[in-house]
Amino acid sequence: MNDDKKQVVMIIICVVCLGLAAGITYWTNRDKSSSATITLLCANPQCEKTTEYSTEKFQNLIIRLSSQESLTSGQGPTVFPCSHCGKKSCYIAKKCDKCGAYFIPKYDANSQTYIDICTKCGYGRAMPPVNQP
Ligand SMILES: [Zn+2]
Ligand SMILES: [Zn+2]
Repeated sequence: MNDDKKQVVMIIICVVCLGLAAGITYWTNRDKSSSATITLLCANPQCEKTTEYSTEKFQNLIIRLSSQESLTSGQGPTVFPCSHCGKKSCYIAKKCDKCGAYFIPKYDANSQTYIDICTKCGYGRAMPPVNQP
């Protein structure tokens, strides 16, 4: 009797989890303009174009690239090839909360932190140190 109840609870939890997962997938697919996109900014001064990826496309890109070559140039942020100019000069960009411009957070190798300050208007703050696993 007690075990039966437990089983029912487990089934309910499973159904809720599945529903939640489906809901999240549905929501992510629908909401294309939200934070579900990752923006890369080209650091090449002749280009400086942004490329947007959905989380899914971005994951595919990482898998594709990591099977070909190492993504990082030593320590620091990951470098991606630019889909506009073809140079390997794209970094994950942040959108400024104030002016809406895209910028590449500066990586400080000494403190291993990303300095998250907008290059256009100077708005921002230093990120807390990256936690090492
Ligand atoms: Zn480029
Ligand atoms: Zn700004």
